[in-house]
Amino acid sequence: MAEHYIVLSRKYRPKLLSDLIGQDTLSSSLKSCLDAKKVPHAFLFHGIRGVGKTTTARILARCLSCLGIDGLTDITSTPCGVCKSCIAIDSDQHMDIMEFDAASRTGVDDIREIIDATQYAPIQGRYKIFIIDEVHMLSKSAFNALLKTLEEPPTHVKFIFATTELNKIPETILSRCMTYQLKPITHDVLSLYLINICEKEGILLEKDAASIVAEESEGSVRDALSIIEQAIMSLGDAKTINVDIVTKLLGSARICEIKALLNHILLGKTEEAIKISESLIQNNADPFAIYKQLQTMLYKIIVDTAKNKNSEYNLSNLLYLWQIFLKQTETIKNSTHPEFILNAAIVIMAHTASFPKIDSLMIKDTENNVINTQSTNNQSKLASKLESIMGEKVQPLNDQKSKLIENVLEKFPGATITEIE
Ligand SMILES: [Zn+2]
Repeated sequence: MAEHYIVLSRKYRPKLLSDLIGQDTLSSSLKSCLDAKKVPHAFLFHGIRGVGKTTTARILARCLSCLGIDGLTDITSTPCGVCKSCIAIDSDQHMDIMEFDAASRTGVDDIREIIDATQYAPIQGRYKIFIIDEVHMLSKSAFNALLKTLEEPPTHVKFIFATTELNKIPETILSRCMTYQLKPITHDVLSLYLINICEKEGILLEKDAASIVAEESEGSVRDALSIIEQAIMSLGDAKTINVDIVTKLLGSARICEIKALLNHILLGKTEEAIKISESLIQNNADPFAIYKQLQTMLYKIIVDTAKNKNSEYNLSNLLYLWQIFLKQTETIKNSTHPEFILNAAIVIMAHTASFPKIDSLMIKDTENNVINTQSTNNQSKLASKLESIMGEKVQPLNDQKSKLIENVLEKFPGATITEIE
Protein backbone atom coordinates (compact mmCIF):
# COMPACT_ATOMS: atom_id res chain seq x y z
CA MET A 1 0.00 0.00 0.00
CA ALA A 2 1.23 3.50 -0.82
CA GLU A 3 2.64 5.39 2.12
CA HIS A 4 0.39 8.19 3.37
CA TYR A 5 2.00 11.36 2.04
CA ILE A 6 2.24 14.45 4.23
CA VAL A 7 3.15 17.75 2.61
CA LEU A 8 6.44 19.24 3.84
CA SER A 9 4.86 22.34 5.37
CA ARG A 10 2.71 20.07 7.53
CA LYS A 11 5.35 17.47 8.22
CA TYR A 12 7.83 20.07 9.50
CA ARG A 13 5.31 22.45 11.07
CA PRO A 14 6.91 23.91 14.21
CA LYS A 15 5.36 22.81 17.50
CA LEU A 16 7.31 25.03 19.87
CA LEU A 17 8.01 28.77 19.96
CA SER A 18 11.71 27.96 19.68
CA ASP A 19 11.06 26.09 16.41
CA LEU A 20 9.69 29.18 14.66
CA ILE A 21 12.15 30.45 12.08
CA GLY A 22 12.96 34.11 11.53
CA GLN A 23 10.55 35.35 14.23
CA ASP A 24 12.85 35.83 17.21
CA THR A 25 11.20 38.98 18.55
CA LEU A 26 7.75 37.42 18.39
CA SER A 27 8.92 34.18 20.05
CA SER A 28 10.65 35.91 22.93
CA SER A 29 7.76 38.29 23.47
CA LEU A 30 5.24 35.45 23.62
CA LYS A 31 7.59 33.47 25.85
CA SER A 32 7.87 36.25 28.43
CA CYS A 33 4.12 36.76 28.45
CA LEU A 34 3.53 33.01 29.01
CA ASP A 35 6.31 32.67 31.59
CA ALA A 36 4.90 35.62 33.53
CA LYS A 37 1.45 33.95 33.33
CA LYS A 38 0.08 37.25 32.09
CA VAL A 39 -1.85 36.30 29.00
CA PRO A 40 -4.24 38.72 27.29
CA HIS A 41 -7.58 37.36 26.14
CA ALA A 42 -7.06 38.25 22.47
CA PHE A 43 -4.05 38.04 20.17
CA LEU A 44 -3.72 39.19 16.60
CA PHE A 45 -0.94 37.97 14.30
CA HIS A 46 -0.41 39.78 11.04
CA GLY A 47 2.05 39.42 8.17
CA ILE A 48 2.33 38.27 4.54
CA ARG A 49 1.12 34.81 3.45
CA GLY A 50 3.08 31.78 4.58
CA VAL A 51 5.19 33.31 7.34
CA GLY A 52 3.67 31.24 10.14
CA LYS A 53 0.64 33.10 11.49
CA THR A 54 -1.66 30.10 11.96
CA THR A 55 1.33 27.99 12.99
CA THR A 56 2.09 30.51 15.74
CA ALA A 57 -1.60 30.55 16.71
CA ARG A 58 -1.54 26.76 17.12
CA ILE A 59 1.70 26.84 19.10
CA LEU A 60 0.19 29.46 21.40
CA ALA A 61 -2.94 27.32 21.83
CA ARG A 62 -0.65 24.39 22.73
CA CYS A 63 1.21 26.54 25.30
CA LEU A 64 -2.07 27.66 26.87
CA SER A 65 -3.53 24.15 26.97
CA CYS A 66 -0.62 21.90 27.94
CA LEU A 67 -1.30 20.09 31.22
CA GLY A 68 2.28 18.87 31.69
CA ILE A 69 3.56 15.34 32.23
CA ASP A 70 2.11 15.36 35.77
CA GLY A 71 -1.19 16.79 34.52
CA LEU A 72 -0.83 19.70 36.96
CA THR A 73 1.34 22.18 35.07
CA ASP A 74 0.13 25.74 34.54
CA ILE A 75 0.33 27.48 31.16
CA THR A 76 3.84 27.18 29.75
CA SER A 77 6.11 28.50 27.00
CA THR A 78 7.43 24.96 26.49
CA PRO A 79 4.51 22.54 26.12
CA CYS A 80 5.41 18.94 26.97
CA GLY A 81 4.16 17.27 23.79
CA VAL A 82 3.11 14.13 25.70
CA CYS A 83 0.12 15.12 27.84
CA LYS A 84 -3.37 14.33 26.56
CA SER A 85 -3.92 17.97 25.68
CA CYS A 86 -0.74 18.24 23.57
CA ILE A 87 -1.51 14.94 21.85
CA ALA A 88 -5.08 16.03 21.08
CA ILE A 89 -3.85 19.33 19.62
CA ASP A 90 -1.16 17.62 17.51
CA SER A 91 -3.81 15.39 15.95
CA ASP A 92 -6.25 18.31 15.47
CA GLN A 93 -8.71 16.72 17.92
CA HIS A 94 -8.70 19.02 20.92
CA MET A 95 -12.33 19.78 21.76
CA ASP A 96 -11.69 23.23 23.21
CA ILE A 97 -9.61 24.58 20.35
CA MET A 98 -11.69 25.71 17.42
CA GLU A 99 -10.33 27.00 14.16
CA PHE A 100 -12.40 29.12 11.78
CA ASP A 101 -11.54 30.46 8.39
CA ALA A 102 -13.18 33.87 8.13
CA ALA A 103 -12.64 33.78 4.37
CA SER A 104 -15.41 31.22 4.04
CA ARG A 105 -17.46 32.16 7.10
CA THR A 106 -17.85 35.91 7.05
CA GLY A 107 -21.40 36.46 8.26
CA VAL A 108 -22.85 37.54 11.56
CA ASP A 109 -24.47 34.09 12.04
CA ASP A 110 -21.07 32.43 11.89
CA ILE A 111 -19.79 34.75 14.59
CA ARG A 112 -22.94 34.19 16.71
CA GLU A 113 -22.14 30.49 16.67
CA ILE A 114 -18.70 31.30 18.09
CA ILE A 115 -20.12 33.71 20.65
CA ASP A 116 -22.65 31.10 21.83
CA ALA A 117 -19.84 28.59 22.20
CA THR A 118 -17.88 30.95 24.46
CA GLN A 119 -20.59 30.60 27.13
CA TYR A 120 -19.72 26.98 27.87
CA ALA A 121 -16.81 25.96 30.05
CA PRO A 122 -13.93 24.07 28.41
CA ILE A 123 -14.33 20.30 28.26
CA GLN A 124 -10.76 19.07 27.99
CA GLY A 125 -8.48 21.90 28.87
CA ARG A 126 -7.99 25.15 30.68
CA TYR A 127 -9.37 27.51 28.03
CA LYS A 128 -11.73 27.56 25.10
CA ILE A 129 -9.54 28.90 22.32
CA PHE A 130 -10.94 30.37 19.11
CA ILE A 131 -8.48 30.71 16.25
CA ILE A 132 -9.93 32.87 13.48
CA ASP A 133 -7.85 32.95 10.31
CA GLU A 134 -8.09 35.73 7.71
CA VAL A 135 -10.13 37.67 10.26
CA HIS A 136 -10.18 40.79 8.04
CA MET A 137 -12.74 38.99 5.87
CA LEU A 138 -15.47 39.26 8.52
CA SER A 139 -18.41 41.48 7.64
CA LYS A 140 -19.00 44.72 9.50
CA SER A 141 -21.92 43.26 11.44
CA ALA A 142 -19.84 40.20 12.28
CA PHE A 143 -17.10 42.43 13.70
CA ASN A 144 -19.71 44.33 15.73
CA ALA A 145 -21.12 41.12 17.16
CA LEU A 146 -17.61 39.97 18.03
CA LEU A 147 -16.76 43.29 19.67
CA LYS A 148 -19.21 42.81 22.54
CA THR A 149 -17.60 39.51 23.49
CA LEU A 150 -14.11 40.97 23.11
CA GLU A 151 -15.02 43.75 25.54
CA GLU A 152 -15.98 41.36 28.30
CA PRO A 153 -14.94 37.84 27.45
CA PRO A 154 -15.53 34.99 29.93
CA THR A 155 -12.26 34.26 31.75
CA HIS A 156 -11.98 30.81 30.18
CA VAL A 157 -11.96 32.21 26.61
CA LYS A 158 -8.99 33.19 24.43
CA PHE A 159 -9.16 34.54 20.90
CA ILE A 160 -6.30 34.26 18.42
CA PHE A 161 -6.76 36.14 15.17
CA ALA A 162 -4.59 35.98 12.07
CA THR A 163 -4.63 38.28 9.06
CA THR A 164 -2.67 39.32 6.02
CA GLU A 165 -4.43 42.69 5.95
CA LEU A 166 -4.12 44.56 9.19
CA ASN A 167 -5.52 47.78 7.68
CA LYS A 168 -8.90 46.10 7.22
CA ILE A 169 -9.37 45.36 10.92
CA PRO A 170 -11.56 47.93 12.73
CA GLU A 171 -9.73 50.05 15.28
CA THR A 172 -12.21 48.95 17.97
CA ILE A 173 -11.11 45.32 17.49
CA LEU A 174 -7.39 46.17 17.25
CA SER A 175 -7.43 48.09 20.51
CA ARG A 176 -8.66 44.97 22.31
CA CYS A 177 -5.97 42.65 20.97
CA MET A 178 -2.31 42.11 21.69
CA THR A 179 -0.95 42.62 18.16
CA TYR A 180 2.18 40.99 16.75
CA GLN A 181 3.74 41.33 13.33
CA LEU A 182 5.33 38.30 11.68
CA LYS A 183 8.15 39.36 9.42
CA PRO A 184 8.94 37.91 6.01
CA ILE A 185 11.73 35.38 6.46
CA THR A 186 15.07 36.81 5.35
CA HIS A 187 16.76 35.31 2.32
CA ASP A 188 19.66 33.71 4.21
CA VAL A 189 17.53 32.26 7.01
CA LEU A 190 15.09 30.79 4.52
CA SER A 191 17.85 29.31 2.32
CA LEU A 192 19.44 27.61 5.30
CA TYR A 193 16.09 26.32 6.52
CA LEU A 194 15.34 24.76 3.12
CA ILE A 195 18.76 23.08 3.04
CA ASN A 196 18.08 21.60 6.49
CA ILE A 197 14.61 20.36 5.57
CA CYS A 198 16.00 18.67 2.44
CA GLU A 199 18.75 17.06 4.50
CA LYS A 200 16.08 15.55 6.75
CA GLU A 201 14.40 14.21 3.61
CA GLY A 202 17.70 12.65 2.50
CA ILE A 203 18.11 15.18 -0.31
CA LEU A 204 21.04 17.48 -1.02
CA LEU A 205 19.81 20.98 -1.85
CA GLU A 206 22.68 22.93 -3.40
CA LYS A 207 23.32 26.36 -1.91
CA ASP A 208 22.72 28.29 -5.15
CA ALA A 209 19.49 26.39 -5.78
CA ALA A 210 18.30 27.17 -2.23
CA SER A 211 19.10 30.81 -2.83
CA ILE A 212 16.95 30.95 -5.98
CA VAL A 213 14.00 29.32 -4.20
CA ALA A 214 14.34 31.74 -1.27
CA GLU A 215 14.44 34.69 -3.65
CA GLU A 216 11.38 33.46 -5.54
CA SER A 217 9.37 32.89 -2.34
CA GLU A 218 9.81 36.49 -1.15
CA GLY A 219 10.00 35.52 2.52
CA SER A 220 7.15 33.00 2.58
CA VAL A 221 8.14 29.65 4.09
CA ARG A 222 5.03 27.97 2.72
CA ASP A 223 5.74 29.09 -0.85
CA ALA A 224 9.37 28.01 -0.55
CA LEU A 225 8.45 24.56 0.78
CA SER A 226 5.93 24.09 -1.98
CA ILE A 227 8.62 24.75 -4.62
CA ILE A 228 11.00 22.36 -2.86
CA GLU A 229 8.25 19.76 -2.76
CA GLN A 230 7.76 19.99 -6.54
CA ALA A 231 11.53 19.79 -7.04
CA ILE A 232 11.74 16.62 -4.90
CA MET A 233 8.89 15.05 -6.87
CA SER A 234 10.67 15.77 -10.15
CA LEU A 235 13.87 14.07 -8.94
CA GLY A 236 12.92 10.42 -9.46
CA ASP A 237 15.75 8.38 -7.95
CA ALA A 238 18.19 11.27 -7.89
CA LYS A 239 19.07 12.83 -4.55
CA THR A 240 20.33 16.30 -5.45
CA ILE A 241 18.40 19.47 -6.22
CA ASN A 242 20.64 21.75 -8.23
CA VAL A 243 20.22 25.11 -9.95
CA ASP A 244 19.14 23.50 -13.23
CA ILE A 245 16.24 21.65 -11.60
CA VAL A 246 15.04 24.72 -9.75
CA THR A 247 15.33 27.12 -12.69
CA LYS A 248 13.54 24.67 -14.96
CA LEU A 249 10.78 24.34 -12.40
CA LEU A 250 10.40 28.08 -11.93
CA GLY A 251 10.76 28.91 -15.61
CA SER A 252 13.53 31.28 -14.59
CA ALA A 253 17.00 31.65 -16.01
CA ARG A 254 20.29 31.04 -14.24
CA ILE A 255 21.63 34.01 -12.35
CA CYS A 256 24.85 34.09 -14.44
CA GLU A 257 22.85 34.32 -17.66
CA ILE A 258 20.69 37.12 -16.30
CA LYS A 259 23.86 38.90 -15.15
CA ALA A 260 25.32 38.65 -18.65
CA LEU A 261 22.06 39.84 -20.19
CA LEU A 262 21.81 42.87 -17.92
CA ASN A 263 25.47 43.65 -18.45
CA HIS A 264 24.96 43.78 -22.22
CA ILE A 265 21.91 46.02 -21.73
CA LEU A 266 23.89 48.38 -19.49
CA LEU A 267 26.72 48.53 -22.00
CA GLY A 268 24.24 49.19 -24.79
CA LYS A 269 25.11 45.96 -26.62
CA THR A 270 21.69 45.32 -28.10
CA GLU A 271 22.58 42.44 -30.39
CA GLU A 272 24.38 40.42 -27.70
CA ALA A 273 21.53 41.06 -25.23
CA ILE A 274 18.88 39.84 -27.66
CA LYS A 275 20.97 36.75 -28.44
CA ILE A 276 20.98 35.74 -24.76
CA SER A 277 17.27 36.50 -24.33
CA GLU A 278 16.34 34.43 -27.39
CA SER A 279 18.42 31.49 -26.27
CA LEU A 280 16.87 31.62 -22.79
CA ILE A 281 13.36 31.60 -24.25
CA GLN A 282 14.32 28.77 -26.58
CA ASN A 283 15.34 26.79 -23.50
CA ASN A 284 11.86 27.30 -22.05
CA ALA A 285 12.56 30.14 -19.65
CA ASP A 286 9.44 32.20 -19.02
CA PRO A 287 9.78 35.76 -20.47
CA PHE A 288 8.02 37.31 -17.47
CA ALA A 289 10.29 35.41 -15.07
CA ILE A 290 13.34 36.69 -17.00
CA TYR A 291 11.92 40.20 -16.77
CA LYS A 292 11.41 39.90 -13.02
CA GLN A 293 14.93 38.56 -12.53
CA LEU A 294 16.40 41.41 -14.58
CA GLN A 295 14.40 43.87 -12.51
CA THR A 296 15.61 42.40 -9.20
CA MET A 297 19.21 42.54 -10.39
CA LEU A 298 18.87 46.11 -11.66
CA TYR A 299 17.34 47.12 -8.34
CA LYS A 300 20.40 45.80 -6.49
CA ILE A 301 22.75 47.68 -8.83
CA ILE A 302 20.78 50.92 -8.33
CA VAL A 303 20.91 50.56 -4.54
CA ASP A 304 24.67 49.89 -4.63
CA THR A 305 25.25 52.80 -6.99
CA ALA A 306 23.11 55.15 -4.86
CA LYS A 307 25.16 54.14 -1.82
CA ASN A 308 28.30 54.85 -3.84
CA LYS A 309 29.43 51.27 -3.53
CA ASN A 310 29.42 50.88 -7.25
CA SER A 311 30.88 53.59 -9.40
CA GLU A 312 30.85 51.43 -12.50
CA TYR A 313 27.47 52.77 -13.64
CA ASN A 314 25.82 56.11 -14.11
CA LEU A 315 22.96 56.51 -11.64
CA SER A 316 20.93 58.72 -13.96
CA ASN A 317 21.00 56.12 -16.68
CA LEU A 318 20.14 53.36 -14.23
CA LEU A 319 17.14 55.33 -12.97
CA TYR A 320 15.99 55.93 -16.50
CA LEU A 321 16.20 52.17 -17.13
CA TRP A 322 14.23 51.57 -13.94
CA GLN A 323 11.43 53.80 -15.25
CA ILE A 324 11.32 51.81 -18.47
CA PHE A 325 11.16 48.60 -16.47
CA LEU A 326 8.23 49.80 -14.40
CA LYS A 327 6.33 50.98 -17.46
CA GLN A 328 6.66 47.63 -19.25
CA THR A 329 5.86 45.33 -16.32
CA GLU A 330 2.08 45.22 -16.76
CA THR A 331 2.36 45.03 -20.55
CA ILE A 332 4.62 41.98 -20.48
CA LYS A 333 2.56 40.34 -17.75
CA ASN A 334 -0.68 40.60 -19.74
CA SER A 335 0.69 40.05 -23.22
CA THR A 336 -0.15 36.96 -25.26
CA HIS A 337 3.37 37.24 -26.74
CA PRO A 338 5.48 38.24 -23.75
CA GLU A 339 8.68 37.27 -25.58
CA PHE A 340 8.13 40.11 -28.08
CA ILE A 341 7.58 42.63 -25.32
CA LEU A 342 10.65 41.34 -23.47
CA ASN A 343 12.88 41.71 -26.52
CA ALA A 344 11.43 45.11 -27.42
CA ALA A 345 12.06 46.28 -23.85
CA ILE A 346 15.63 44.96 -24.07
CA VAL A 347 16.20 46.93 -27.28
CA ILE A 348 14.84 50.14 -25.73
CA MET A 349 16.86 49.67 -22.56
CA ALA A 350 20.10 48.81 -24.32
CA HIS A 351 19.58 51.84 -26.54
CA THR A 352 19.01 54.29 -23.68
CA ALA A 353 21.63 52.76 -21.40
CA SER A 354 24.31 53.67 -23.89
CA PHE A 355 23.39 57.37 -23.69
CA PRO A 356 26.38 59.61 -23.27
CA LYS A 357 26.78 61.69 -20.10
CA ILE A 358 23.78 63.89 -19.49
CA ASP A 359 25.98 66.98 -19.10
CA SER A 360 26.48 66.96 -22.82
CA LEU A 361 22.81 66.50 -23.52
CA MET A 362 19.99 68.81 -24.23
CA ILE A 363 16.44 67.92 -23.35
CA LYS A 364 13.53 68.59 -25.65
CA ASP A 365 9.84 68.22 -24.96
CA THR A 366 7.33 66.64 -27.33
CA GLU A 367 6.98 69.90 -29.29
CA ASN A 368 10.73 69.95 -29.80
CA ASN A 369 11.24 72.92 -27.45
CA VAL A 370 14.37 72.88 -25.35
CA ILE A 371 13.40 72.41 -21.69
CA ASN A 372 14.90 74.77 -19.17
CA THR A 373 16.57 72.32 -16.84
CA GLN A 374 17.95 75.00 -14.55
CA SER A 375 14.53 75.73 -13.05
CA THR A 376 14.45 72.59 -10.97
CA ASN A 377 16.40 72.33 -7.76
CA ASN A 378 14.47 70.01 -5.53
CA GLN A 379 17.04 67.61 -4.19
CA SER A 380 15.14 66.25 -1.22
CA LYS A 381 12.08 65.57 -3.35
CA LEU A 382 14.17 63.39 -5.61
CA ALA A 383 15.70 61.65 -2.62
CA SER A 384 12.29 60.81 -1.21
CA LYS A 385 11.16 59.56 -4.60
CA LEU A 386 14.25 57.36 -4.75
CA GLU A 387 13.46 56.14 -1.27
CA SER A 388 9.97 55.11 -2.30
CA ILE A 389 11.40 53.21 -5.28
CA MET A 390 14.14 51.51 -3.33
CA GLY A 391 12.48 51.07 0.04
CA GLU A 392 15.47 52.38 1.93
CA LYS A 393 17.06 55.63 3.05
CA VAL A 394 18.81 57.59 0.33
CA GLN A 395 20.87 60.73 0.90
CA PRO A 396 19.72 63.72 -1.17
CA LEU A 397 21.74 63.41 -4.32
CA ASN A 398 24.12 66.12 -5.21
CA ASP A 399 23.67 65.07 -8.77
CA GLN A 400 22.35 67.41 -11.36
CA LYS A 401 21.95 64.57 -13.82
CA SER A 402 19.51 62.47 -11.79
CA LYS A 403 17.47 65.54 -11.03
CA LEU A 404 17.32 66.39 -14.65
CA ILE A 405 16.18 63.00 -15.85
CA GLU A 406 13.68 62.62 -13.05
CA ASN A 407 12.20 66.02 -13.78
CA VAL A 408 11.97 65.43 -17.49
CA LEU A 409 10.31 62.05 -17.09
CA GLU A 410 7.83 63.42 -14.63
CA LYS A 411 6.83 66.50 -16.60
CA PHE A 412 7.32 65.39 -20.16
CA PRO A 413 6.64 61.69 -20.51
CA GLY A 414 7.18 61.88 -24.27
CA ALA A 415 10.44 63.78 -24.03
CA THR A 416 13.49 62.63 -25.93
CA ILE A 417 17.02 62.96 -24.75
CA THR A 418 19.59 63.61 -27.48
CA GLU A 419 23.20 64.54 -27.66
CA ILE A 420 24.21 68.11 -28.48
CA GLU A 421 25.93 68.13 -31.82
ZN1 LIG B 1 1.48 18.98 27.18
